[in-house]
Amino acid sequence: MSNGRGPDSETGLGEYEKIDPPTSFAEQATVTDESIYDEFNDTWPDCWERAAATIDWSEPYECVLPNDEPPFEWFAGGTLNASYNCLDRHIEAGAKNRVAIKWESHLGETRTYTYQDLYREVNEFAAALRAQGVEEDDVVTLYMPMIPELPIAMLACARIGAPHNVVFAGLSADALATRLESADSEYLVTCDGYYRRGNAIFLKSKAEDARLKTPHDLSEMVLVEHLGEAEHLGETQHTYDELVSEHAGAEVAPVDRSADDVLFLIHTSGTTGEPKRVEHVTGGYLAHVTWTSQAVLDLKPGDTYLCTANIGWISGHSYVVYGPLAVGATTVMYEGTPNYPEKDRIWSLIEQNAVDVFYTAPTAIRAFMKWGAEYPAQHDLSSLRLLGTVGEPINPRAWQWYYEHVGNEECPIVDTWWQTETGGMMIATLPGIDAMKPGVAGPPLPGTDAKIVDGSGEAVPPNDAGYLVLTRPWPGMPLALRHGRRWGREGTSEIEVNGWNYFTGDGARVDEDGYITVLGRIDDVINVSGYRLGTMEIESAIVDVEGVVEAAVVSVDNAETGGVHAYVTLEAALSGDEQMRERIASHVRERIGPIATLDAVVFTPDLPKTRSGKIMRRFLENIANGEEFGDTSTLRNPEIVGELKSIVRDD
Ligand code: ATP
Ligand code: MG
Repeated sequence: MSNGRGPDSETGLGEYEKIDPPTSFAEQATVTDESIYDEFNDTWPDCWERAAATIDWSEPYECVLPNDEPPFEWFAGGTLNASYNCLDRHIEAGAKNRVAIKWESHLGETRTYTYQDLYREVNEFAAALRAQGVEEDDVVTLYMPMIPELPIAMLACARIGAPHNVVFAGLSADALATRLESADSEYLVTCDGYYRRGNAIFLKSKAEDARLKTPHDLSEMVLVEHLGEAEHLGETQHTYDELVSEHAGAEVAPVDRSADDVLFLIHTSGTTGEPKRVEHVTGGYLAHVTWTSQAVLDLKPGDTYLCTANIGWISGHSYVVYGPLAVGATTVMYEGTPNYPEKDRIWSLIEQNAVDVFYTAPTAIRAFMKWGAEYPAQHDLSSLRLLGTVGEPINPRAWQWYYEHVGNEECPIVDTWWQTETGGMMIATLPGIDAMKPGVAGPPLPGTDAKIVDGSGEAVPPNDAGYLVLTRPWPGMPLALRHGRRWGREGTSEIEVNGWNYFTGDGARVDEDGYITVLGRIDDVINVSGYRLGTMEIESAIVDVEGVVEAAVVSVDNAETGGVHAYVTLEAALSGDEQMRERIASHVRERIGPIATLDAVVFTPDLPKTRSGKIMRRFLENIANGEEFGDTSTLRNPEIVGELKSIVRDD
């Protein structure tokens, strides 16, 4: 078995050996025929019929995609309801007693909802929302933590055709106010509070603050009493329990939505700048996430599945709620954090629930590495069949750790590249047929296409870094893109690429096999002695060094101390010294080549991260360049910025 490390090419850019999918997996995979790539290519856009066939339509669509110019009306003429697809159809097929949601609380309490239970409560809450005055197309904002009432409220909204607007519970009152306004939403469902690392966190007071900050009236507010802290409720406020019991036994017919009607609004994570509002539509989005749940995550009806994403982000929408429930799987939701009460929380959840498929993020995998392989080793993880990752480029060493210590070298890993804007997965290997390359996402999924281009819009040669552009519309594309509005981010919108395209804002490279390595954001591609390198490339080399857990590199303009600076966190027991610095610098030179010189290595207890756990390099850049930095409230750990400033000053 390959260890995933391979020869270095001339520049030393790492080449990793391919790992074939384990035979036992391949034999049972959802997609087993390699001809799918050619077939989809030859029949595009009709190939997407395959995705549309994974969901039920109340009125069949007339055409997969009538135009190859905007507006892109995927599945034009079709009508459907997302909540019907996630609930009713499974019950009609006889699966009413299958578990839909298994919820694991922070305190060890569990709640199990069969498809029938979920159906009942979604209907009751849908009736309650209607009774509160919510009509079709009214936007309902859901400011809620990871509790079952969140997916219930989402599905209830979907049932009555009211787009939901989920706001991650960790965001501030200001952030909520902005999102209420930007969505023009008059309805809010929130919660008294939730637990995190043993502490109660109060949410309702933040919701109240937001309510005071929005210029327009919130007509109704519904409160889930999760902590059970009785609080005073105003006149336009109701408790969730009271509403649901008032509507006990109610049934609400699923509203027919046209394929192009909005299912939900969501904001991007704001890693690079202001969070952007994205609207996803019912038909194409649901087809895209359901099909990719099957083809990439290999989910089958009855599988038990755990995704660690918070529902407040797109990954949670697409692959905790809509995808798995539309497939008819059991989705495990958990409250709290992966290291509470112990650092084996996730492994214990996997063992107890006999989880088949596990989907997480590189930031979590690096934390698991830091805590140690003894934690997964304490548990029987043999139920696992497939592992997935999303959110950031994964360093090959972290990939390898995941493959060995979680998957026991028996589970394929899908490294799925996608964005809030794409709705669902776009680049990944198909786990039953494609070989894996650690740290490399894979080819564009069948039915999608991508190019790596330079500043003049020309495709770059294999293995050169460039801009990642998507060159074919896809069903999960957001509303704004469907209508042809250009979504190229600033600084790239003047680049002309032949034909329709979408600039993703990410830098990437493609190899001879057509596999794409995502290098991170365009802003994170740096110029080292004339070579364009992704920060991720250098970071991966640093993380290769024994004892290193995480690294972020930035480029510094300053003439005196300019060049490439690395910020590095080490395993808990280690402290950074000159020897470690030298070991890191020489390993980077060895892996990437003599061009890659680190001009400074700064050891730090942590790196600035967004609330969804991504490294925010721009704060590091500000620190390294001695610049002022803006609002740190979008950070999960704002205190680290001050700490880092003093570390850098002392150095
Ligand atoms: P904003 O757009 O507001 O700056 P964001 O881009 O972090 O925030 P998301 O839509 O949640 O918001 O994240 C999508 C981005 O995450 C991608 O553009 C890419 O940079 C990164 N990403 C996601 N999956 C992968 C992956 N498998 N490999 C590499 N990068 C990934
Ligand atoms: Mg983005």
